[in-house]
Amino acid sequence: PESLERLRSTIRDVPDFPQPGILFKDITPVLADPELLNEAIEGMTEAFAGQKVDKVVGIDARGFIFGALIAQRLGAGFIPVRKKGKLPWQTRGVDYSLEYGKNSVEMHVDALAPREKVVLADDLLATGGTAGAALQLIQESGADLLGSVFFIELAFLNGREKLAETGPVHALLTF
Ligand code: 5GP
Repeated sequence: PESLERLRSTIRDVPDFPQPGILFKDITPVLADPELLNEAIEGMTEAFAGQKVDKVVGIDARGFIFGALIAQRLGAGFIPVRKKGKLPWQTRGVDYSLEYGKNSVEMHVDALAPREKVVLADDLLATGGTAGAALQLIQESGADLLGSVFFIELAFLNGREKLAETGPVHALLTF
């Protein structure tokens, strides 16, 4: 559709960020445009329309923006998954390797209750390492994962395959 084309063409390709050889998808021009931001959130929310969602888990840092807006639209609460050392309360963590380097993410131990209905949100799915780590934290909490949603999927990195066994994987735009 036309609106998805506008979203797609507003994403800015930045060569060699944050490292040589990486073509970074800069989503900040989408955030800056009220209509496009609304379309992005509406599109990402569609997959869960009519479902009761208790919590949306968003990943540090752009996943906070998308996740919080999706949570509000779904009438759900928001839970941050953060890089190691950033959360103030007791945490559980998962180490993982990503497209460029290594990382560790954490969630508060009491953020999710068993059997709560949970959606994972982030701006972009690349290798799936980051989302996979967040999904492990959700799984360890005993909550029920309804699915994962991304603004962008980089299909050539096959992240979707890595996440497939955790539940449905949705992406608004695929490159
Ligand atoms: P993965 O763990 O799937 O390899 O990488 C995805 C994570 O890295 C996401 O949290 C995402 O925010 C970030 N990321 C990796 N590449 C890009 C990119 O090209 N653009 C944006 N906006 N984020 C990226």
